[in-house]
Amino acid sequence: MKTPKQHEHLRKIPSVDEILRKPEIQKLSERAPRPAIVRAVQMVLAEKRRDLLSAADDAHAGEKDSSPGVTLSQVEAKLQEIIRPSLRRVINATGIVVHTNLGRAPLADEAIACVVEAARRYSNLEFDINRGERGSRYTHVRELLQELSGAQSAFVVNNNAAAVLLCLSTLARGRDVIISRGELIEIGGSFRMPEVMEQSGARLREVGATNRTHLRDYRDAITEQTALILKVHTSNYKIVGFTAEVELRELKKLGDEFHIPVMYDMGSGNLVQSEIPGLQEEPTVQDALRQGIDIVTFSGDKLVGGPQAGIILGSSEYLAAIAKNSLTRALRIDKLTLAALEATLRIYYLDPDYCTTIPVLRMLSVSAAVLKKRAQALVRKLKKHALPLTVSAMQDVSKIGGGAYPAQELPTWVVSLEPQGMSSRELEQKLRTGTPSVIARISRERVLLDMRTLFPEEADMVANALIALFNTAGSRLHNGCTTAGAST
Ligand SMILES: *Cc1c(COP(=O)(O)O)cnc(C)c1O
Repeated sequence: MKTPKQHEHLRKIPSVDEILRKPEIQKLSERAPRPAIVRAVQMVLAEKRRDLLSAADDAHAGEKDSSPGVTLSQVEAKLQEIIRPSLRRVINATGIVVHTNLGRAPLADEAIACVVEAARRYSNLEFDINRGERGSRYTHVRELLQELSGAQSAFVVNNNAAAVLLCLSTLARGRDVIISRGELIEIGGSFRMPEVMEQSGARLREVGATNRTHLRDYRDAITEQTALILKVHTSNYKIVGFTAEVELRELKKLGDEFHIPVMYDMGSGNLVQSEIPGLQEEPTVQDALRQGIDIVTFSGDKLVGGPQAGIILGSSEYLAAIAKNSLTRALRIDKLTLAALEATLRIYYLDPDYCTTIPVLRMLSVSAAVLKKRAQALVRKLKKHALPLTVSAMQDVSKIGGGAYPAQELPTWVVSLEPQGMSSRELEQKLRTGTPSVIARISRERVLLDMRTLFPEEADMVANALIALFNTAGSRLHNGCTTAGAST
């Protein structure tokens, strides 16, 4: 129910047409099509209506912006929101290198160049240039993957979830897959192993207990119906304490005894043995294949540091069957992804400095000493501006990734921000919703900017964002002080 006062307020709001007729609003048509301007005006008016209703409810109504008039800058601000792309760059100051919500792996420059090239013109995507006849898109990465991993054969699809689905559908449709209860994983974005299995038509045969599974549990579950033994790398959690899992080598021996293939969903895909801190203890793709695992699957955009893709490696026999599955047509990798994947794999193959060329590996391997210097430089810059903010550089830990090893922590340096006159939650929100959007984390009432995931040019962008934020916030606070009840 609206009160008479609210009615009176609402009546004062101009109509869409009235606003559109104003000369300064009409001039906006030089910058945006009419439907976008109309939409912007509607959005401003909807906000006005909401504000007026709440202001009329409020004892301090006079202190709020309850003017029914619509200004050019209000419409421009909404127009800006409408025009700018929904999918846009953010600055990742979380320190989480493989951040699924922030797009996982940023690509290497060479990979980006190859994507642009493939996008702009025609390519030999499925064309054999030497023979002048139809070719296969998979040839562009097959040999590279074989060389890098030592696998007999390779195949790629759209993502690792698709890779698992395709393998299970090919090798175990209508039959049993044995998997440890400790490995029935769920990964953000609704990848649940039991559900993927159901989709593939394979039957789940869980063995062992959540914390302990023994070789005899697998052995006891084997029947005529068993098509596959599946091991899953629990990449997004760790079971600690009283635990037991069966080694790959033993699983492979068991599989051989019963002529059952063994598949390993590695998830994050640590491709080659490297000196990168935090990764030395992780199983590598090469190791798994050396132990005779028949099929290995992993993502292209986790530790590989390439585009979203699902990589399947293993024995020629099984890979040939997988490639023939008609599902491949639905799950196939597109040409832009393929261009980025080939380029990324070429860096591994040809560039001895691949650990610095590939951004994910560079961010994981950067030393705490370097991060400390960067944090101190940002602190110095911010201190020059006398912002209402306590700024300091401090030691902390960053995580490798929501999509890779959340349990794995690396020592890092952060810039800590303690704002005056607003809460840390408010500051975090202002940074996040600003342009560019800066994603930080909050810890113990401080906003933390982790230097690990900032690109070199981004430290300045963050500094400028903070300076701008406090300048406008400052002026607004100042205006607020002329009326009673403004926050101080
Ligand atoms: C990440 C992950 C997946 C899903 O991979 P996507 O590339 O995101 O589809 C599947 N299995 C494991 C073990 C994973 O870590």
